[in-house]
Amino acid sequence: MLNQAFTELEQLETVIQQLGDRARVETVGLIPFKAREFPIYSIVMGSMRSDVPVLAFFGGVHGLEKIGSEVILSYLQTIIQLLDWDEEFAQRLERSRLVFMPIVNPVGVFRGTRCNANGVDLMRNAPIEGSGNTKLYSGHRLSPRLPWYRGDGSQMEAEAQALCQVVQRHVTNAPLSIALDLHSGFGIHDRLWFPYASRKQPFPDIAEAHALKSLFDRCYPNHFYKIEPMSQEYVINGDLWDYLYDSFSQSDNRQGLFLPLTLEMGSWLWLRKSPLHLFQRHGLFHPLLPHRQQRILRRHFTLFDFLYRSLLYPAKWSRLDSGQLNMNRQQALALWYA
Ligand SMILES: [Zn+2]
Repeated sequence: MLNQAFTELEQLETVIQQLGDRARVETVGLIPFKAREFPIYSIVMGSMRSDVPVLAFFGGVHGLEKIGSEVILSYLQTIIQLLDWDEEFAQRLERSRLVFMPIVNPVGVFRGTRCNANGVDLMRNAPIEGSGNTKLYSGHRLSPRLPWYRGDGSQMEAEAQALCQVVQRHVTNAPLSIALDLHSGFGIHDRLWFPYASRKQPFPDIAEAHALKSLFDRCYPNHFYKIEPMSQEYVINGDLWDYLYDSFSQSDNRQGLFLPLTLEMGSWLWLRKSPLHLFQRHGLFHPLLPHRQQRILRRHFTLFDFLYRSLLYPAKWSRLDSGQLNMNRQQALALWYA
């Protein structure tokens, strides 16, 4: 374990080196593990002005689902190449900001565990309670030896604090922002979840979420995402995104719109294609065959590009008049909450 390679971290550090002065890199946490210490990096590219839109990517919150980290690393490698010749991409960055936290839970990714070194499930770790029918997997305080442990409630884990700090410093300070948190493992469909995860009630920006979905449906009628509030599938305690969204939307000087999204890549599809996955450590959460992994590394780039452009040209979804707001809200209620 001491000298074991940490491939994803090595790849991330190579990407950071290649970006050079085209990005601002910070070490937002140092997580001790045995005799080693793993950094949590954040990468910020583009304009630092407070009036530009922001798109942010987070991966590896659940270490076992390391395909999320790999997809972000792959996207960063593409961006590095684009910056070499694509002037239009460089111009986009002058009027927007991209934020990346590819490995939020380095010990988890290194060991291949869902939780961090303290046995805490970081996506159950925020000070927010789920309401309604919660289960063990919704997050509990029984024991760190059981999965989905929330922590003892005294304070958030260092990794969760680092994520919140990056969101509050570089994302929610913008007039318009989207955060995309990459996970894998639930079901056979790729899902795109928006708040709430903690309660089965519509979140305040449901009209905008619906308008964004309509725009995506219209532009990519053959897309394969199931877009829905996360609580449609299950309700959890301690969701970091609900916590960050509520802190943002309930603050006195709230300005603009912050939309946290979770991309849950449906890994049961990979399992169905090769049942041997069941018997391997990463199998349930990770495509093991190289061609399948390659496919997943590029599969979501259309979505990433759409989200980026929707932030640059937001008229059709985030600047709705009262009639459009009302119509989208009614359609959202009928679609998701009837
Ligand atoms: Zn996950």
